[in-house]
Amino acid sequence: MPVQQSIQNLHQEFSQDLALVKTSADLENVKVKFLGKKGPIQNLMKMLKDVSSDDRPAVGKQINDLKDLMTSQCDQLKDSLVSSEVNKQLLDEAIDISLPGRNHYIGRKHPLTQAMDMIIQILVGMGFSIQYGPDIDTDYYNFEVLNFPPEHPARDMQDTFYISSNVLLRTHTSNIQARVMEANKPPIRIIAPGKAYRNETITARSHVFFHQVEAVYIDKGVSFSDLISTMDEFLSKLFKRGIETRYRPSYFPFVEPGMEVDVRCLVCEGKGCNICKHTGWLEIGGAGMIHPEVLRNGEIDPEVYSGFAWGMGLERLVIIMRGVKDIRDFTENDLRFLKQFTSF
Ligand SMILES: [Zn+2]
Repeated sequence: MPVQQSIQNLHQEFSQDLALVKTSADLENVKVKFLGKKGPIQNLMKMLKDVSSDDRPAVGKQINDLKDLMTSQCDQLKDSLVSSEVNKQLLDEAIDISLPGRNHYIGRKHPLTQAMDMIIQILVGMGFSIQYGPDIDTDYYNFEVLNFPPEHPARDMQDTFYISSNVLLRTHTSNIQARVMEANKPPIRIIAPGKAYRNETITARSHVFFHQVEAVYIDKGVSFSDLISTMDEFLSKLFKRGIETRYRPSYFPFVEPGMEVDVRCLVCEGKGCNICKHTGWLEIGGAGMIHPEVLRNGEIDPEVYSGFAWGMGLERLVIIMRGVKDIRDFTENDLRFLKQFTSF
């Protein structure tokens, strides 16, 4: 009977198509193809009129059974497809909490700032307080009050950036000394960290600006041995080891006597190397007893009080401590250089 054959063929075709379904969209296409309003089931129904009236109920039942079977198989498959697609989506979106995290690159302090922080921490721990002063200052506070009278040849020691005949970029942080003396009576125990500027040719060893930290202690009976013991203690804390120092007489107008301070080379322990230029010693700063004239300018009686002052260049210290070869590296902002300084 042709209708029954068509039912069988349709069932077979449906089964084949259903076996190929992979996604919900595929399934939808199969449903439209076999169960749609103008689909093959409707055609079979139309063919019923050619079937004898005796057979018609049985054949009609076969068509309906096939339709029910196709509908229920589609529904079943739909359920399993949806749940597997949801699972796949969940898997795709899943976060693997056992994966190691990605490191974010964060900046860190500039090596000079790190070194300055450390110096300040040590000196504050030794009883000094911090004083800041202006980078742009008058000739008076930068030179005159520090015993550099006008036309004094010592002014030639420091090539100066003048803004006007009387205003300049400070050549040292010593410009803070007299301001502190004017505003305070002894005992005075301060450090003055900051930038200083000099009109020099930029080379591997000198720059037009650099950082200094200066320490000043004024009280009754402050002696030369106080200067040396304070300096020695500071240096051994800074270098985290016993340090051998050497004090060489030198001239600075604002101290008397004045000295240059050397430490035994940290690299070769005094045997001689490139860092210390084979002298066995590294120069780290200047020091001295504050000149009576400077105390007088600061309205402090040198007959009653005495004091010491010392200063050192921050770049010089970092160069010595970390073997930096070129002072210009500090201002080039080259990350390959800066990244090396995780801590001091
Ligand atoms: Zn050396």
